Amino acid sequence: MTMTRRDCIAAGLILAGCGSKPKMDERRDVHSFAVPAQVRVKHMDLDVEVDFERKQIRGTVTHTLVRTDRDAPLVLDTRDLKIEKVEAAENAQAAFNQAQFSMGSPDAILGSALTVPLSSGVTAVRVHYATSPAATALQWLEPSQTAGRKRPFLYTQSQAIHARTWIPLQDTPAVRMTYRGRVRTPKDLIALMSARADFRLGNPKEEPNGEYTFRMPQAIPSYLVALAVGQLEFRYISSRTGVWAEPSIVKLAEAEFEDMERMMVAAEKLAGPYAWNRYDVLVLPPSFPFGGMENPLMTFATPTILAGDKSLVSLVAHEMAHSWSGNLVTNATWRDFWLNEGFTTYFERRMLEEVYGTERARMEAVLGRQELDREMATLPTAERVLHIDLKGRDPDDGSTLVPYEKGALFLTALEQAFGREKFDAFLQAYFAKFRFQSITTEQFTAFLKSRLLDSDTAAAAKVDIAEWIEKPGIPANAPQATCESFQPVEAVARQWTEREAPETKPATGGWNTHQWIHFLRALPKELDRKRRTALDRTFGFSKSGNSEVLFEWLIVHVRNGEFSPKLEEFLVRVGRRKYVKPLFEEMVKRPEGLKRAKEIFEKARGGYHALTVSAVEEILKKPPSRA
Ligand SMILES: [Zn+2]
Repeated sequence: MTMTRRDCIAAGLILAGCGSKPKMDERRDVHSFAVPAQVRVKHMDLDVEVDFERKQIRGTVTHTLVRTDRDAPLVLDTRDLKIEKVEAAENAQAAFNQAQFSMGSPDAILGSALTVPLSSGVTAVRVHYATSPAATALQWLEPSQTAGRKRPFLYTQSQAIHARTWIPLQDTPAVRMTYRGRVRTPKDLIALMSARADFRLGNPKEEPNGEYTFRMPQAIPSYLVALAVGQLEFRYISSRTGVWAEPSIVKLAEAEFEDMERMMVAAEKLAGPYAWNRYDVLVLPPSFPFGGMENPLMTFATPTILAGDKSLVSLVAHEMAHSWSGNLVTNATWRDFWLNEGFTTYFERRMLEEVYGTERARMEAVLGRQELDREMATLPTAERVLHIDLKGRDPDDGSTLVPYEKGALFLTALEQAFGREKFDAFLQAYFAKFRFQSITTEQFTAFLKSRLLDSDTAAAAKVDIAEWIEKPGIPANAPQATCESFQPVEAVARQWTEREAPETKPATGGWNTHQWIHFLRALPKELDRKRRTALDRTFGFSKSGNSEVLFEWLIVHVRNGEFSPKLEEFLVRVGRRKYVKPLFEEMVKRPEGLKRAKEIFEKARGGYHALTVSAVEEILKKPPSRA
């Protein structure tokens, strides 16, 4: 990383003279202790054992280094790790000797720096370590928390800066490395990593027998290193795509994701050839806090998208799109997160349009905008900005819908101003130019200017780039998402605004999931119990097997002060933050709701991931007053 004049101004160094050596802090990502400009990890060899009895991962990681500054030490990120020993060698194959190391004082967000002074000639450092129960990247599930209920399950979630709680490494998306993994597990469980597996099930010669090896020959950032261990089965969707899931749900997952190859073809048409060999989806137990995590070659996904009718597969399109936006072209810091998520959300809708038609993509865009507006209204001004300032904060704080939906709207505005043909050519050029690189917002805007804006000043005048990227809220001339399929839905929803329920059953035959979601959102905010009961009797929402529909129905209830057993059952079963957070936020607006929220949280928290637990604790700590 070299510093430009512009970086120097940003870092306040211009007075000191840009030629002089900047201080260490000014050369690192604010969310990492590593100084890759001095010593950078280019390859990692992980060799670990997964111990379910002690709920611990332990073993070694060997880092191969590029040393730009011969006097500088290696600095790694750690949080809540037990570091047992550090060794160094001339290279990863040479003999290792014990090395000195020191641990920095712990920071609540960043953890502790592990500093290893390097003598001359050293290019490999091995750390012997073990994880602690506090590791936020790891969720250890009891058999009762899995679909099969017989064997335990472990999965990791490294994004944003949790990788450092299970591996000591340079935990910044600015550093890309290749890796190899060797993982030992109980013999009847299967280990999967975000990499190419060296085993093939069903082939006795390659049976792993409790020891699995993986290789990732393409350089990726630390937040994409992932591991899952459980009782799992695999089904092919096409020769290069497939699904992993617990045996009891693998058939359901196979049917739900049968369009994966078509999505892949649509994505390649838009962004160029798929760069990562295979694409598989691993369906996790319901406590997974996210919809999906785009771990390369192996998307981790929530089972709440198994609706039985492919209505929620936009999530698979989203995670697959990350194979380009995010995994191939990566945000260099968490300030630039919108580059990952805005591009991916835009890209996801283009894929849906290609596979399922324009109207499907439009419905998703309208619903996405509704969710953005709903969340934006609750956010402080500074968090309504794409290029958000996260200095001194946990980067997970930036994970609102703003980088996703506002980012996608921005790209849609560009598409509309310049025309699809020209914008698509720009997208192709963007992915080709920055593949396997981590880039900042400034690099994006410079490329945008030279490749798109300068080519047509009249079109460029329609999109205020600085306003979109640096200012809060949505520009007044933002594209409006509309779709025809929602018009009849709104007409039926209006019928329920009267005091009494409609006498005849409205014509809703053939409505799809998106229309039902829109219907529930379009209902009047205040609905008395009589009308809620009539609604449920007519449409059976409380029995819906579709998690989105059930969630919207529960929101209607909670908003009207009803905290039903169904609500508790849902919140205890599902740990996905997208559902859990809004339900708790709505509950605590009333004193009796706050009481119920606390009771339900006590029952549910044992099954939640650490990220979901802390999100709910935050809500219970400072309940917002009823608006
Ligand atoms: Zn995403």
